[in-house]
Amino acid sequence: MLEELKQTVCAANLALPKHRLVVLTWGNASGIDREAGLMVIKPSGVEYEGMTPDDMVVVDLDGNVVEGRWKPSSDTPTHLELYKAFPSIGGIVHTHSRWATIFAQAGRDIPVLGTTHAAHFYGSVPCTRAMTRDEIEEDYERETGRVIIESFSRTDPEEVPGVLVCAHGPFTWGADPMEAVKNAVVLEEVAFMGWHAIAISSDLEPLQKPLLDRHFMSNRSGDDY
Ligand SMILES: [Zn+2]
Repeated sequence: MLEELKQTVCAANLALPKHRLVVLTWGNASGIDREAGLMVIKPSGVEYEGMTPDDMVVVDLDGNVVEGRWKPSSDTPTHLELYKAFPSIGGIVHTHSRWATIFAQAGRDIPVLGTTHAAHFYGSVPCTRAMTRDEIEEDYERETGRVIIESFSRTDPEEVPGVLVCAHGPFTWGADPMEAVKNAVVLEEVAFMGWHAIAISSDLEPLQKPLLDRHFMSNRSGDDY
């Protein structure tokens, strides 16, 4: 079932080590078939090397396994919360990519400082609030999704397709799993650039609004930037 989506989700997962966004078995990518009400996600704890579409796990929107020989990623409830709250997204990626995770561990948003960032994220990439003890102890992965959603109460997830979970790492999303991968690559790159720009000049102002607007809009319409 969902053979095409399993292939795409597998390819998205394999792209993560290729882009040096994950080490060991960290990270995961998923995709959703909204008509079928099913999500395909990476299996838990399986090595990337040799991973095939048949290793992907199909779950329903309550997280029950519908098909697959492995357990789904432990982050499955976080992915499901995001798909339910953000109806336009079709793919999600989670990594502990180094520079984005440095911002997450510092509890800092990634400010928009240049046009690379502006082309893909229309403003700062937010860092969530710290989770409470109850949230961590009771239903951690689902609550992780909820604190992400809370950070987007006034932000359009299509305009800012990524977030930093405080003290943890980034999640990105997109219209499909490969777009979520691309946003994870860009997020890591802008975190790297942003950290170094702040190191050189600690009192930087955010990018001028007209530049932010121009580059975000041009990228959306498919122009070079
Ligand atoms: Zn994680």
